[in-house]
Amino acid sequence: MNYKAVLKNIYQTIIAEENEGKVATYIPELAKVNSENFGVHFLSVDTEEHGIGDWQKKFSIQSISKVISLSLAYKIFGDTIWERVGVEPSGTAFNSLVQLESDHGIPRNPFINAGAMVICDMLVTHLKNPKADFLAYVKEICNCDQIQYSETVARSEASIGYRNKALCNYIKSFGNIKNDPKDVLDFYFNMCSIEMNCKELSKTFMFLANSNFKTSKGEKLLNTSKTKRVNAIMQTCGFYDESGEFSFKVGLPGKSGVGGGIVAVHPDRYCITVWSPKLNEKGNSYRGMKFLEAFTTVTELSIF
Ligand code: GLN
Repeated sequence: MNYKAVLKNIYQTIIAEENEGKVATYIPELAKVNSENFGVHFLSVDTEEHGIGDWQKKFSIQSISKVISLSLAYKIFGDTIWERVGVEPSGTAFNSLVQLESDHGIPRNPFINAGAMVICDMLVTHLKNPKADFLAYVKEICNCDQIQYSETVARSEASIGYRNKALCNYIKSFGNIKNDPKDVLDFYFNMCSIEMNCKELSKTFMFLANSNFKTSKGEKLLNTSKTKRVNAIMQTCGFYDESGEFSFKVGLPGKSGVGGGIVAVHPDRYCITVWSPKLNEKGNSYRGMKFLEAFTTVTELSIF
């Protein structure tokens, strides 16, 4: 397969023909990003790689970080995490509160904000220096040193984060947040503010594609069964109330963020990251979805 040519063709078509959507503005700092940025990075399990467009520019990974926090919590606590968070698609927006009342404070899955906060709570309890330890862990899986939180983005989100604060406090009222909500939210906003480029994200997600993956310290992150489960949750819940649509059109496990990034994983074959800040109505990158749909269609390489 000539991946380079396929990627280039699709990139050129999408840049010429597809440009709908709007940059997320509810986090003031994200509104400042140039909406025309468009980058792609492809990395195969046998280390063939191709970057196109703005693949070296850093962006706010936002909810994509939820896969990393889930994986760390899963590694530390094993299957006990499922006592506090479910594995069902929610069919609701990422920041929805509605199901928490009937579900008694147990969020539907770890990728909606409510579920990610419960996972953050577990990490805040366990890690000695939660923010520093988490960042060190991200660098270790990515095998990249140049990864940081954006204080500006984290502060910007905290300044308007009324809904997330409500969510966290509401879950606390059911007893499913153990720490002070302030500490959990601070960890959550920082985690979402991590900045990476397309290449760093493709490398970070390799642990979900390559069964022989080892971190820079030579550690295996998740065993085969846990890897299967994290991929399965990405497949069913990675795009909130557009998860069915992504699965239908792209056919890969993946995760999006409101910074406009999407990472998709083809187990045993490749990771691919697309970044384009304009979002569709469900909060997923408009061009990102279009690009990945074309990529799995042309290559006939989806998991189905
Ligand atoms: N930090 C963002 C929020 O909580 C993450 C949402 C997202 O990327 N979908 O609103």
